[in-house]
Amino acid sequence: KNFTVPRPIHAEIDLHALRHNLEVLREKAAGRTLWAVVKANAYGHGLENAVRAFEKADGLATIDLCDAERARKAGWKGRILLLEGFFDATDIEPLQKLDVETVIHSPWQIEILRAAKLMNVRCHVKVNSGMNRLGFLPVEVDGVVDMLDRIPGVSVMGVVTHFANAEPTYLGDAPASVGRQLTRMGRLAQTGASSCMANSAGILWHPEVGGSGVRAGVALYGVSPDAHISSEELGLIPAMTLKAKIIAIQEIAPGEVVGYGSRWTAKRRSRIAVVACGYADGYPRSMPDGAPVWVEGQLAPLTGSVSMDMLEIDVTDIPAAGLGTEVELWGKHLSVNRVAAACGTIGYELLCALARRVPVSVK
Ligand code: PLP
Repeated sequence: KNFTVPRPIHAEIDLHALRHNLEVLREKAAGRTLWAVVKANAYGHGLENAVRAFEKADGLATIDLCDAERARKAGWKGRILLLEGFFDATDIEPLQKLDVETVIHSPWQIEILRAAKLMNVRCHVKVNSGMNRLGFLPVEVDGVVDMLDRIPGVSVMGVVTHFANAEPTYLGDAPASVGRQLTRMGRLAQTGASSCMANSAGILWHPEVGGSGVRAGVALYGVSPDAHISSEELGLIPAMTLKAKIIAIQEIAPGEVVGYGSRWTAKRRSRIAVVACGYADGYPRSMPDGAPVWVEGQLAPLTGSVSMDMLEIDVTDIPAAGLGTEVELWGKHLSVNRVAAACGTIGYELLCALARRVPVSVK
């Protein structure tokens, strides 16, 4: 008999939603190679779940070589791409064994390839088109391709770049920003070039980007890359719903305070519900009073600072909420972007920060 009873919190992962979102992105990708980005444990959704749901993707893109190993163990037979490439000479052997393609963004990686014993390493040259994070300048690309071509066992597949802001309302000048990056790419971005440029936002809002491949991350998980535009508007279904139960109710008098630091004070007689979700589960401690929690079809405000294992909400106006009621921290009814915005971050961060201790159920 298993005596380990999980705490009343879990993340529900909807495989149907993941499959649906893949289809939406597939259509938008309009014939281009569709890489499903599954880094950070598939944005918190579980790599193995992503492997199952993204069966029809053309490849998986990740950061960690150990993800490639996990994906292969889970039965993934298709292409795998390391978005930041390898980190060390010791990565080369597993890279080849696992049949993983790699991004090359820096000269030191070329040196490692030169010194290694290679069978067939497929490389994608990363171009820095203006984000100034990773990659070679467009004028350097021909030289880099030449260098790689001269290394026995290396094949160059094409170029990749990444957009700093392809979301319509991110900095207010996304079209101009994407346009500037495309201009810098020059012929590398033109029709016929083997290039993979668009992320979710690029796929959704910038058909002019083109290229031969795209890399979809957050949208596959049903979350809009732009917090000002809803998933529904994009036809996406949120795939992760974080739920926890109310484990205690406190009836408190006006003037009473709640939680560490006594941050929240009751202005009236209040019913405070204690929910089994805290910052050790991945719910940010920086969440302010008033942050929304979905309870019985309504939004209840957070009251007081989030503890390690619990948080408190005001359910005075939601009489149906009681002991054992399940609340939604984010997901199907309450968008993770909205919750993230309450504490000044983006949905991506909340999804990825889901703690390992949170049990996951798959439907
Ligand atoms: N490509 C690269 C290089 C990335 O770093 C990421 C994620 O940050 C993606 C694609 C996917 O981006 P998104 O989740 O916005 O679709």
